[in-house]
Amino acid sequence: MKTYKDLKSVSYIEPGIHFAEKLLDVQFTRTGKNRYSAFCPFHADTKDSFRVYSDGKDEVKFHCFGGCKGNWDIYDIIMIRNKCSFKEAQRTWADYLDIKDFKVFDGKSKSVPEPDEEPEPEDSVGFIEPELDQEIIAALDESARFYNELLLSDEDRFKDVYAYLRRRGVGTDLIRRFNIGYAPPYSDKQCYGRALIYQFLPRFEKDYTLFRPFFKGGMVRLLNDPSVKGYGYYLQQINNGKSGAFSSNYGDYFAGRMVFPIYNIEAQVVGFTGRRPNNRGVRWLKQKTGESAISTKSWLYGIDKAHRHIKHYRTVILVEGIFDYFVFYKLLQDQDKPIVVSTMGSRLTGEARSILKGLGIEHFIVAYDWDEAGRKGIARIASEVGGRVHYLGGMAEGQDPYDKLKPVISAISGFSLKHLMAGAKKAQEKTDKPVNVHIISSGKPEHRDVVFEATGNETAPFLNKETESSEYYYSTDDFLPLLTYNHGNKPMLDKTIEQIIKLLEARPTKPQSASIFTIPVKFLQNEGYADLGAALILWLRLVIEQQKRKRIIRETDETLAGWLNTSRATISNYKSRLKDLGFLNIKTDVRPQRLSVRYFPRQEH
Ligand SMILES: [Zn+2]
Repeated sequence: MKTYKDLKSVSYIEPGIHFAEKLLDVQFTRTGKNRYSAFCPFHADTKDSFRVYSDGKDEVKFHCFGGCKGNWDIYDIIMIRNKCSFKEAQRTWADYLDIKDFKVFDGKSKSVPEPDEEPEPEDSVGFIEPELDQEIIAALDESARFYNELLLSDEDRFKDVYAYLRRRGVGTDLIRRFNIGYAPPYSDKQCYGRALIYQFLPRFEKDYTLFRPFFKGGMVRLLNDPSVKGYGYYLQQINNGKSGAFSSNYGDYFAGRMVFPIYNIEAQVVGFTGRRPNNRGVRWLKQKTGESAISTKSWLYGIDKAHRHIKHYRTVILVEGIFDYFVFYKLLQDQDKPIVVSTMGSRLTGEARSILKGLGIEHFIVAYDWDEAGRKGIARIASEVGGRVHYLGGMAEGQDPYDKLKPVISAISGFSLKHLMAGAKKAQEKTDKPVNVHIISSGKPEHRDVVFEATGNETAPFLNKETESSEYYYSTDDFLPLLTYNHGNKPMLDKTIEQIIKLLEARPTKPQSASIFTIPVKFLQNEGYADLGAALILWLRLVIEQQKRKRIIRETDETLAGWLNTSRATISNYKSRLKDLGFLNIKTDVRPQRLSVRYFPRQEH
């Protein structure tokens, strides 16, 4: 009786090559004994990145050294191409070889998920943020215009999208003004989630390099990328629709979502956010950072429309969501004072803050939700700008917000809040959600004296901290000699960790030497940090490497062990500890594994 393992043997490499050529529609070139290469069928390949060889264990491997970086066996490639289960793949291969005494193994493939294992996933937001170049900006701009024109072209076809947007107060005028678009889903029988790709396909096919800015700009996704969450879901979209390297292997990143282009202060498109026109699954999708060129850190939705007015009034209104934004925008636009931006979440990043700082802001009117995340966001802004928070709370029944806000109006550069609050009240009726307003003032002292009382049982947060740094700066040279596990015994290792913690706790707010790495203030405030123990050594070394290379680390345990002077077992032990505590993202299903450091445990978000 033969098993699936037997049929992976190098003695089947020749029938395997014939079979794979037909299955994958590729042409292999023999490059040596038991070695073949071809253009990869799973990404738009410009050289022969797809290799077949026998590994040290007499097993035939299929490996893509290009975009996919996948490592597969014969069953995996059958599963990917035929979108079938591991069991079916075993039968297909045994049948092809005409082997009758075959026993199907009941388990799962290590590399490829079963076809309906995963729903469409949420994408994690990465850590590394490189710069956009002009080609990428141009591609993002074209994408924005394309999706907008597509949505505007056929109100009937996209009636659900229109209905959703109208319910949220967004009509055709705003769709035009903000270039809002729609990317039809993978289930769409006209474009199979590839509307953007189809639009520019003739261009990509003529010149491969013109595809690059769309890929780098995060507008398309490689469907065969084992490192993304939901690998199984995207695998099933391969080869739907038109055939060809681009249209088979890639899909629109935002397929199934309305797309909102994000403009920077110079009115260039620097990214997108997407939302489903219904409430199924993951509703909002930010662009993927990490290995694409997109940075989400400086995103302020609406800054292109607001910056002149913000500068004039020295005041900005921050809201959490895009639809909150439109409520305030419409209202303020009527007064020609659109000083509102959305921080797209309840957090003002350092990058976004410095953009606002450049506009000479003194007052932040923060209309975040009064939940834990919102409160944290408000406290953080107050501490970072060194200002005070005046909490105005939600409105009591029948209360006119204008009365409550009247005393502030003269204080903030003559800016009138009357219409703003009237509109906020209207929005409140619709959502049945209290509109909380907070004023953070770091302006002239006489402007700071306006204090408001909270309504109901809420305690007014009254923050008056000095401006704090958001990051600490450490010298790499101080740390590297300590980042090793080779101490002979446990007490000595503990001593080293104590030393490391002492260095960390010095909390330097300015760089002390040329070679530095940084750690967010919040990391040291986080209690989880104390639980890391000796895993801290591995974590710090990864932080340093990650910041130095400005990318996710791709190394084997052996390399990590080499860096830290220890065994692979130690590395894998501490790695799983960091992963369990939520301080590390690890993709071990690819070789070499990919690691990226997380600064706070996952549950903190
Ligand atoms: Zn590939």
